[in-house]
Amino acid sequence: MTDKLFENDSYINEFEAKVLECAEYKERYKIVLDKTAFFPEGGGQKADTGFLNGVKVIDVWEKDGTVYHEVSEKLEPGTVVKGEIDWLQRFYRMQNHSGEHLISGIIHALYGYNNVGFHMGHDVVTLDVDGRISIGELKDVEERANEAIYENVPIRAFVPKKSDLERMDIRSKIDLTEGIRIVEIEGYDRCACCAPHVAKTGEIGIVKILNSYPNKGGTRIELLCGHDALEYYRKKLSDNTEIMKLLSAPDGQTAEAVRKLLDSISAYKTEIRSLKDKLALAKLKVQKINSVAVGYLEDADFDDLRVCINQLTVGNDGICAVFSGTENTDGCMYIVSSESSDIAKFMQHLKDTLNAKGGGKSNYSQGKVPANFGEIIKAIENYRV
Ligand SMILES: [Zn+2]
Repeated sequence: MTDKLFENDSYINEFEAKVLECAEYKERYKIVLDKTAFFPEGGGQKADTGFLNGVKVIDVWEKDGTVYHEVSEKLEPGTVVKGEIDWLQRFYRMQNHSGEHLISGIIHALYGYNNVGFHMGHDVVTLDVDGRISIGELKDVEERANEAIYENVPIRAFVPKKSDLERMDIRSKIDLTEGIRIVEIEGYDRCACCAPHVAKTGEIGIVKILNSYPNKGGTRIELLCGHDALEYYRKKLSDNTEIMKLLSAPDGQTAEAVRKLLDSISAYKTEIRSLKDKLALAKLKVQKINSVAVGYLEDADFDDLRVCINQLTVGNDGICAVFSGTENTDGCMYIVSSESSDIAKFMQHLKDTLNAKGGGKSNYSQGKVPANFGEIIKAIENYRV
């Protein structure tokens, strides 16, 4: 059993300990110490990193009461080592974890919902509760959580006696066994947890809910606390300032400026489409071959071909076909359509003679022909109705 210094004091970030075991592990080493302030992963909080005698501690985990430290170099058993924890990383995690308990406690008190999931990601903390909470209700929860931070009430961890545990008002009674560690935010929450927490709510700094959405019949809430919330605000402010500059928009009016920009883009798109339609029709050259109205225009896309085939079918009862290619390529795109005739036989002819590929319906087909327009003309001249 390793003496876990973090259980009684979350603020130990340097300590001395004796190496008890050192074994090879995944091309590195795993170390057991007589005592440690390194928190192993647990309760939704990730493992601490840091150094043992200047040797990097990459990962920390606990098994059967023993804490293992994965390190990059060998440390001889019997050596007394100095442990240094990456303190800012740990402290920011403590801010997020205590903030998460606070939010969960307030939600439980107000709505009776339970925390059924907690994940401390790199960019965001997610918390799942087993009931639906509206955005308006979450705003109220966030307000109350920040009031608890202003009150600066104590947060303490303790292991109650079995008899006390049974009488105690604890957020989740599931899996409560004797010897379990309880973390209490005075007046707000009491919950079983193995992780280190800040000592007073004031140190959480701020709780900011970022997003929420329905999840498995409940609600997933995304939040950040303390320094991570400050960093998040910095990024958002930097983005907003950049958008203000790009759109020459005053502060507080970026959304309106983006909306106007999108409206103009939409109007330009409509205008461009209309001009492209006119251009395609102006470029279209039509000839009648074997009762098929055959149109051709250079450098068109399918939208252009569609405009042309629509125009062509208005004035022609029989089969209409429009093709487009470029000077440098042999292939052509095509659309074949007819208001009154079945085009199947004509399409079969294009497939047999030119290996045309594509698909559609009995009176409409589009695709590609691996031939230039001259070869297409010859094939249609040989078409027999
Ligand atoms: Zn916890």
